[in-house]
Amino acid sequence: MASDAREVLVRARGQVAARVESLRRQLGEIREVSTWSGADDEHDPEGATIAFERAQVQGLLADSQRELVELDRAAERIEAGTYGRCERCGAPIGEERLAALPATTTCIDCASRR
Ligand SMILES: [Zn+2]
Repeated sequence: MASDAREVLVRARGQVAARVESLRRQLGEIREVSTWSGADDEHDPEGATIAFERAQVQGLLADSQRELVELDRAAERIEAGTYGRCERCGAPIGEERLAALPATTTCIDCASRR
């Protein structure tokens, strides 16, 4: 089970890392466009669109980076032997839940009680 969990984590981490890369690239492109057009975020309607897009991509990027950190923590828990246990109540987290959310730290009961 531990080796399966590690595989799931490695795969998930690879996917999230790829997403971070592509979002960074998108953000770079948005910056370039706004430099070229000399867009004024506040007054130019096109600038406002660019600012909105940039904020969206930045939000997604922040989420993905947080996910990476969580996946790294999950990998540490595997090494420590605490992976798959709820941080709140200590009960084992269901395998289906771990498969869907490999970085989760709480069992489904604690998560729904939140
Ligand atoms: Zn729990």
